[in-house]
Amino acid sequence: MKIENDRVVRFHYSVAEAGKDTLESSKEGGQPIAILFGRGQIIPGLEKAMEGREVGDSFKAAVNAGEAYGERREGLTQRVPKKHFGGQKLVPGMQVVLQTNFGPRAVVIEKVGMSVVDVDLNHPMAGKDLEFDIEIVDVREASEEELAHGHVHGEGGHHH
Ligand code: ZN
Repeated sequence: MKIENDRVVRFHYSVAEAGKDTLESSKEGGQPIAILFGRGQIIPGLEKAMEGREVGDSFKAAVNAGEAYGERREGLTQRVPKKHFGGQKLVPGMQVVLQTNFGPRAVVIEKVGMSVVDVDLNHPMAGKDLEFDIEIVDVREASEEELAHGHVHGEGGHHH
């Protein structure tokens, strides 16, 4: 079965900045990612690269910053009270996940003060050209319930 919009796709990925070491890989956790394809649940460049592929396909996809996490934007530094970081040791350049009103968000530590921390709200991979290694594990039709909810149920998806 080919990858098309509104099908459920499970895949392994690893991603690196072009020409560099792997930044993250789904194989570390052992579980493939599950998405409802064509709903913007992954970056646009990857969606394009995956369309039409089949179970068992392994391939590399080069995705430039504009089709990945976008270009870096200036002026996205924000000052956050240190207590929001829950006592972990903070070092400039470090990537942490901050709980915000809009849900968890990956940020990069810029400067650590006595009681406040400056963080860069750009996505840590913004402005970077990325290289993905993709392995398609499973492709199936989505259920009506999944289509209505807009996400995958069961293995690798939501349980509710
Ligand atoms: Zn649901």
